[in-house]
Amino acid sequence: MTLATVPRYQPPTRNPAKAGAAVVIGGSMAGLLTARILADSYSTVTVIERDPLPAEPLARRGVPQGRHVHLLLEAGRATFEDLFPGFGEELARRGGVILDGSRDVLHYQEGDFLADGTRQIPLYFATRPLFEHIVRERVVDLEAVTLRPQCQWTDYLVDASETAVTGVAITTAAGDTVELKADLVVDATGRTSRTPAWLRSRGYDPPETDEVRVRMAYSTARIERPANDRQMVLAAPSAESSRGGSTFPVENGARLVTLFGLHDDHPPADQEGLIEFASTLPVPHFERLLTTRMWHSEEIAQYPFPTSIRRHYEDLERFPDGLLVVGDALASFNPIYGQGMSVAALEALVLHHTLTDGHPEDLAQRFFEKTEDIVDVAWMLSVSADFTFPQTEGPKPRGTDLINRYISRLLRESHDDQALREAFIKVLMMERPPTTLFSPRILWRVFKPKR
Ligand SMILES: Cc1cc2nc3c(=O)[nH]c(=O)nc-3n(C[C@H](O)[C@H](O)[C@H](O)COP(=O)(O)OP(=O)(O)OC[C@H]3O[C@@H](n4cnc5c(N)ncnc54)[C@H](O)[C@@H]3O)c2cc1C
Repeated sequence: MTLATVPRYQPPTRNPAKAGAAVVIGGSMAGLLTARILADSYSTVTVIERDPLPAEPLARRGVPQGRHVHLLLEAGRATFEDLFPGFGEELARRGGVILDGSRDVLHYQEGDFLADGTRQIPLYFATRPLFEHIVRERVVDLEAVTLRPQCQWTDYLVDASETAVTGVAITTAAGDTVELKADLVVDATGRTSRTPAWLRSRGYDPPETDEVRVRMAYSTARIERPANDRQMVLAAPSAESSRGGSTFPVENGARLVTLFGLHDDHPPADQEGLIEFASTLPVPHFERLLTTRMWHSEEIAQYPFPTSIRRHYEDLERFPDGLLVVGDALASFNPIYGQGMSVAALEALVLHHTLTDGHPEDLAQRFFEKTEDIVDVAWMLSVSADFTFPQTEGPKPRGTDLINRYISRLLRESHDDQALREAFIKVLMMERPPTTLFSPRILWRVFKPKR
């Protein structure tokens, strides 16, 4: 499922009937989006976060990826606007940058830049801490929501038969253990989620887990940006080179420059090494930016990303009532494709519809079945691209090589075919399903004889 196929958010009527208590563990993007949805249905929603939460948009320890470029795809952008009306305006007011995805983005892939698009696509650019900060402020403003920073989840509480989760045990900053009762608990603790281990310890089967090994790493520098510098550059990796980069303007007169490399070909964390790495990319923009602009600091943030992980909760025959898992805890994708926040946003929409469809029974089963369709799309897109490299290890979806050959040809045709570029970008942005790339109109454009 994509933006086109997940029904949009329906705001509740003026005085919605609310009941019960919900707890969300993890106050990052997936946790906050979940809390936003739960606040429509539950009287109280408590978000447990182990980090202290900064008063300003700053990177924090529990979200180390927050120092690197975070692209918000159209599926996420449109959903953020539905859940937090005026989100883009507020982002821009605080220094974020709104560009046109059709004309302001130089997208290099398969040997050249893609043609410009034909319609305006608003793209929001900011640091990941600013995205999170605005979302957090909006969520905390909701009457039902309480945020409890510096509290660490340690255990789920269960009923006597151990068939339902009835709350959580947490350790507070003062070191006290506190139990919070809840009708629904949501695990949004990210890719290191301990729910699989907890299930095993209670006699449940843990979910089957797919791991696709890409042995990638990111290095990110922060450089200065003149006010008229309003362009994103993306150099995607391809079979010829497992290196790439992404750079765009953000708030506070800065530009983030992220370089990445797969299969142990990692960008270094020193200035000279990073510039040398940039000089090997197929486009000159990254090296030029790093050598001609002032650096905001000499610090280069690094993040290793060894594997994409997908946990198949939808296949479990037994799962405790009163518990859900969302966001990276469900699936964590190769970040090159910028899907995580948008997938979390679509999952929040699914939760909204699952809670309000008038069938309160089997919440977890219905939620996991529907989110499977969202994760399928994102997983297919990122994992197929990962298997362009013969070194990638893990379960390879059937037909991947054929699809990759087709997409490679489609991209090469997109260098000067605006309609093909549009079709591809809509899929990349999780607006339209990948099947749209196989429609007769697109197939004809991909294979039409050359003059
Ligand atoms: C390098 C990199 C670049 C990325 N780039 C993009 C991008 O361009 N676009 C995009 O959409 N996505 C991107 N992502 C993915 C994105 O960061 C995540 O998908 C998104 O943050 C949603 O994650 P989450 O909220 O599920 O988990 P996380 O962001 O990992 O947050 C988990 C939270 O749970 C808290 N927590 C963990 N354990 C406990 C506990 N026991 N008790 C209390 N709290 C706990 C943590 O402190 C943290 O706040 C990128 C990821 C990486 C690694």
